[in-house]
Amino acid sequence: MTQKLNKVEELKLEKDGYDVLADIIRYSEAGDYDAIEANDLEARFKWFGVYRQRPNVGHFMLRIKLPGGQLSPAQLRGIANLTDRYARGFADITTRQTIQLHWITIQDLKPIFQELDRLKLTTTFACGDCPRNVVSCPLAGVLKDETIDSAAITRQVSDYFVNSGREFSNLPRKFKVAIAGCSINCHLPHIHDIGFYGVKRPNGQEGYGLLVGGGLSSTPHFGQPLRVFVKPEQVAEVSRAVAVLFRDHGYREKRTRARLKFLVADKGWEWTRDRIEETLGYKLERDETLQYPVSSHADHMGIGVQKDGRHYLGIPIERGRWTATNMRTLADLSDKFATGDKRIRLTNKQNAILLDVPKENLAAISAALESAGLPPAAHRLRTTLISCTGTEFCNLAVVETKHRAGRVLRWLEENTPDLDQPVAISFTGCPNACAQYQVFDIGLTGIPVVLKGQKDADGKAIKVDGYNVLLGAGLGADPKFGEVIAKKIQGDKIHLALKGLLDAYVAQRADAEETFTAWVARTEPESLQQIIEAPVNAPDAVPLMA
Ligand code: SF4
Repeated sequence: MTQKLNKVEELKLEKDGYDVLADIIRYSEAGDYDAIEANDLEARFKWFGVYRQRPNVGHFMLRIKLPGGQLSPAQLRGIANLTDRYARGFADITTRQTIQLHWITIQDLKPIFQELDRLKLTTTFACGDCPRNVVSCPLAGVLKDETIDSAAITRQVSDYFVNSGREFSNLPRKFKVAIAGCSINCHLPHIHDIGFYGVKRPNGQEGYGLLVGGGLSSTPHFGQPLRVFVKPEQVAEVSRAVAVLFRDHGYREKRTRARLKFLVADKGWEWTRDRIEETLGYKLERDETLQYPVSSHADHMGIGVQKDGRHYLGIPIERGRWTATNMRTLADLSDKFATGDKRIRLTNKQNAILLDVPKENLAAISAALESAGLPPAAHRLRTTLISCTGTEFCNLAVVETKHRAGRVLRWLEENTPDLDQPVAISFTGCPNACAQYQVFDIGLTGIPVVLKGQKDADGKAIKVDGYNVLLGAGLGADPKFGEVIAKKIQGDKIHLALKGLLDAYVAQRADAEETFTAWVARTEPESLQQIIEAPVNAPDAVPLMA
């Protein structure tokens, strides 16, 4: 049956997003923001990672793709130079292991694209209705207890989609792939359109389990297991076959129903598997014994030993925002103290990892990182508190996130000294869930709050930034999304709610091993709500101001 197309579908038929690159270069050479055709500016530019930046008066955000967060020191130094030259000296690491620059002008785009080409980096399909950055474990290939090394296949799948031209440039909506053999599934395969997770069979055979149809946003779904064993050499063609399924069967009528997750939920996993196999031209090996993957928010931070005996150093980057100086420091230290490949990786918790450091260089590189203000050892929350872009630059945001997240983190570091277990906290500026709030231990999602009994000079109710607090998420055999436990907590008091939760967890946990998630699961929702709201509503509650 022919579908009635939504507006974005119509503009893609007029001109494919993939065809906008030549126009971006032409607009950049002309240097006239006001002359940019509206559908190019608001929609098609995204296919090359270019977003209008709030408040839409001539600046852009630019997203640089990094499959699996993989970078060389030269590439990171190159991005640092672009950041200094065009982006006012700072950039953000995202939950898809990419880097976003802000304050880019139309004139800047051509020279930036030329420099990214030289650095062998791309923004192709960084946004838009196409395959996005492929996410992986940042320690793929080096993690001692990984199930299977996925570094090369992550790059291969990414390259395939980037070079596929118009084959997948007009999908119904975005398409997200995660591939890793990480022992803790830090790549969160459950919340991707395709999630490959490493498995090792009793006979020692290594490969992947496959989840399809996951995704968050305002209607979250966990990926459904297809109960097949995917051999490493099949990963690329299976990824392509799922993209074909989405392209040819995905919904294009309502934009809000256009993600693959809705199709898979409606049709079921067996139908999905059968369509994938039709494209493959062969059957995948059935395996009913594969377990649903268990994930952790632990982010491979601190110092660890690689499988080749060298070391990695996980370096927390406060809520993903770093300066060009930070980037250059890490690139220089990698060049100076790492050996061989000198690999650098970014994580989906918005942090960075330096790989390939031999034991004899650990003391010197640790001291250098410490003196640069980038110590590998940090408070637990510094590694797992993340934030999306928020109202500072994002057109969809309803509250500010980035700066508040930084302030709250620094306050909590001083005021929760007893916290000795990782607790993942997400500050998210709207229900679109770029910071994945539904699967974090504590998910904060932005919502305006009316100040009771207070009016402005015109007699109108005063609204301030606030957050709903979600708890109870779990990424185990029986995965759960977080549920709203407390609503409309004023933003300038959210630090008190978080401290209340963290202190109660430390005081009430059964023993030092009980996780925050387990404590939440056995605590009544009413008690949790009281723990959150009591310090916020206390007469002596002190707001945390900018
Ligand atoms: Fe913007 Fe919402 Fe995404 Fe945050 S979650 S970056 S506010 S769209």
